[in-house]
Amino acid sequence: MTTHREPLESVLDTVGETPLVRVHASPDEVPVYAKLESFNPGASVKDRIGMYMLEQMLESGELPEGGTIVEPTAGNTGIGLAVAAGQLGIRAVFVVPERFSVEKQTLMRALGADVVNTPTEDGMGGAIDKAQQLADELDDAVVPQQFSNPLNPEAHYETTAPEVYDALDDEVGALVAGCGTAGTLMGMARYGRENHEDTFVTAVEPVGSLYSTLHGRDVEEAAYKTEGIGTHNPATNELFDPELVDEIVQIGDRETHAEMQRLATEEGHLVASSSAANCLAALDVAERAAAGELDLPYDSVVTVFPDSSERYLSKGVYGDFESWEG
Ligand code: PMP
Repeated sequence: MTTHREPLESVLDTVGETPLVRVHASPDEVPVYAKLESFNPGASVKDRIGMYMLEQMLESGELPEGGTIVEPTAGNTGIGLAVAAGQLGIRAVFVVPERFSVEKQTLMRALGADVVNTPTEDGMGGAIDKAQQLADELDDAVVPQQFSNPLNPEAHYETTAPEVYDALDDEVGALVAGCGTAGTLMGMARYGRENHEDTFVTAVEPVGSLYSTLHGRDVEEAAYKTEGIGTHNPATNELFDPELVDEIVQIGDRETHAEMQRLATEEGHLVASSSAANCLAALDVAERAAAGELDLPYDSVVTVFPDSSERYLSKGVYGDFESWEG
């Protein structure tokens, strides 16, 4: 909680209430605002679902007191879950595809979690299967499964979205966010559409990702460097509801890489690739609205900066494009 000044009891009291900051590059008539999720204690948007899913599962009894969670994760969810698990007396085991950043895996271990790697070529699907297999071998283990658990979007419906709407007096014209599990965008979009049924919703994915096929577009699959968003197999992204989304836009790695650098030098944001992709997509929505090409119920666009570039320095995010490992 960045806005509170009194002493707090637990690090979990600092999850959420992150700042909302105007993106300077956006048009004056239609400003873009970014929710800075690196202000959370585990430094990403995933602290929200880590705390929310565990608290809800403990309350419903699905997760026994002192039990174990086993989760397939690209990293940030592991850190978010590990922060919460440590404070709630839960053991945490994470299954992470090898290619994901070593910084994230080091942090999960520092928080007391165990990390199991799966081969990069098996993708998130391989990590999901392995997590289920490990959980079946233990008696007290639950797989929160962020890719299909309705508590994931619910965390954003209950926290991220109301914070944004409160900050902007309910006047939000468009919501723009990259989709990994799609929990962030789905939770915010559901809240937004209840607030105003014409709220414009844009899903963001890297070029090479296949979410666009869910809107009937014939896009080509390819590897991409942007981390944390996109999918090679939309069947594993069960939370994504194409009906809650007006458009799915693709952003190329090269543009994303340049925007990451611009956000740092021009706007002082040390944010990672998914934030940069989100920012480009949000700026494009705002510019179309400012040019009269898009009708928004209010003149504002909201996006999310999910995490910080510090988490990816070993991958050369601020070097030239070719040496960025992604
Ligand atoms: N950016 C980063 C860096 C992430 O780790 C994630 C989660 N995979 C996202 C964006 C996307 O969030 P969501 O899973 O809620 O779609």
